[in-house]
Amino acid sequence: MTIAGGCQCGAVRYSLQGGPYPVYACHCRECQKQSASAFALSMPVPVQAFAIEGTLDEYCRPASGGRSTDGFFCPACGTRLFHRSSASGAFVTVKAGTLDDASNIQVRAHLWVSRKQPWVTLDPEVPAFDTQPEDMSAWRERLMEDAP
Ligand SMILES: [Zn+2]
Ligand SMILES: [Zn+2]
Repeated sequence: MTIAGGCQCGAVRYSLQGGPYPVYACHCRECQKQSASAFALSMPVPVQAFAIEGTLDEYCRPASGGRSTDGFFCPACGTRLFHRSSASGAFVTVKAGTLDDASNIQVRAHLWVSRKQPWVTLDPEVPAFDTQPEDMSAWRERLMEDAP
């Protein structure tokens, strides 16, 4: 199975082998700014399953412990396509709104609901964290193991 996506103008395209991959939503202020929306949709994918075509530009945001979160975007239209942490090269976090078809993504968790916009209503069946899991890396790994 191949899942495909790309930026708004079409200059950058990507494909994913396998999946469907689980997605989580983050409602923190950084994600609201980054996505220019109310929350970000993050889909962690093993780097070996991810193929990208086209020229990218990069924005590095300092994170805790001297790390950085690197955001990759299309220089022509500005669409943010995926993130990569300097702490781990094993996965990339695809911004799931850039999928060609995001209609059947599975949102498995909501993070930072303490920062959620009051007009966003969540499904009570989906786990929600006030902030984020204490060990984010381990939590993300478990989430990714759920992918077929
Ligand atoms: Zn573009
Ligand atoms: Zn966030």
